[in-house]
Amino acid sequence: MSERIYLCLAHMSGREQEFIKEAFDTNWVVPLGPNVNGFEADLEAFVGENKNVVALSAGTAAVHLALLACGVGPGDEVICQSMTFCASANPITYLGATPVFVDSERDTWNIDPELMEQAIKDRIAKTGRKPKAIVPVYLYGMPARIDEIMAVAAKYEIPVVEDAAEAFGSMYKGRVCGTFGQYGVLSFNGNKMITTSGGGALICPDEQTKREIMFYATQARESYPYYQHEHIGYNYRMSNICAGIGRGQMTIADEHIAHHRHTYALYKELLADVEGISLHGNPSEEYDSNFWLNTILLDPSLEVVGQESAYDTAVTGTVGGAAGVAHAAESLHTECEPNANVEAMRLALDAEGIESRPLWKPMHCQPVFASAPSYVNGVSEELFAKGLCLPSGPCVTDEQIRSIVECIKRSIRR
Ligand SMILES: *Cc1c(COP(=O)(O)O)cnc(C)c1O
Repeated sequence: MSERIYLCLAHMSGREQEFIKEAFDTNWVVPLGPNVNGFEADLEAFVGENKNVVALSAGTAAVHLALLACGVGPGDEVICQSMTFCASANPITYLGATPVFVDSERDTWNIDPELMEQAIKDRIAKTGRKPKAIVPVYLYGMPARIDEIMAVAAKYEIPVVEDAAEAFGSMYKGRVCGTFGQYGVLSFNGNKMITTSGGGALICPDEQTKREIMFYATQARESYPYYQHEHIGYNYRMSNICAGIGRGQMTIADEHIAHHRHTYALYKELLADVEGISLHGNPSEEYDSNFWLNTILLDPSLEVVGQESAYDTAVTGTVGGAAGVAHAAESLHTECEPNANVEAMRLALDAEGIESRPLWKPMHCQPVFASAPSYVNGVSEELFAKGLCLPSGPCVTDEQIRSIVECIKRSIRR
């Protein structure tokens, strides 16, 4: 193997440059324009359900504006899935509110609807007020138990902001993830299902709401001949250049999604007879994950070569390509970390040029959220201890998947 194999590397259709060239030729090099409108129309057609979509500078910005639109403000509480990437939770704090983290259930690895209801009841009992919003996440593309989540949300009349950043193209009972709640968040960061280099979008319930989101995304300008501001706004609109990339990507979105699902099917076949390793799959036919990332769990009894010394050396980079930007690690260990066999397998894959990554560390275990209330059942901590994400992107070939599985098998002590 010569080239390094990444988890999910961006892949271009070739059409992106046509749309970008048009933007330059017509001098639309600004955060609005024909590509932004065109990309939004493509996204609206893709998600269906008569939704309106606003293209933004990032998925994180979409979470932020959705929470703002739900009326979240200083002193409020927002229910958030604990097992997620920090971008689901950080915007809660941007608004001066407090995240209340809720653990996952075992089937989908996403927010546990029953525990969520307990959390809502307990917050009402403790604070006298109900949480202002609920943020479920479709981790690695897997649909959540969204019917039950929506039922609990409706019972307490709390709006739902679905974080579908990783779930572009995932479906639950035939309906696109991100269209169940009041708002749905999409991300087009470099490693997501489709990319605009960096970008995101917010799925909105109607045209009026879309206009309001656009208002806040463009510095909240009142219509006067001069700058007049009556609200605090943000500079969150997508640029016409990025939207050009998005339009090009939309021409191959279905192929990307099909390829990710194909990688799942192949991993499933190849890992079927490997004892001690389980691949995360759809819990039933109602779920149709896009398999943005394929993930495996390692049984704690599985012995991996080198696991005794797995944590002996510090990593110099960081996950997600932020090497050089991340702070240097202060110690080799943290209080909550993947099991030694998982780290040993990650190192074995890394030595053969294969990127893999532990599952996302739950937010209730993150030092930065130590003071946030949390409702836990042990599931996300157990998943984090046992799990590893495997290469699943549009550039990963069948041959590479075979070699990844061979490497996994070789790393197991017989
Ligand atoms: C990537 C991601 C986001 C944020 O999207 P950006 O476009 O990177 O800002 C939010 N939530 C989850 C779960 C993500 O994986």
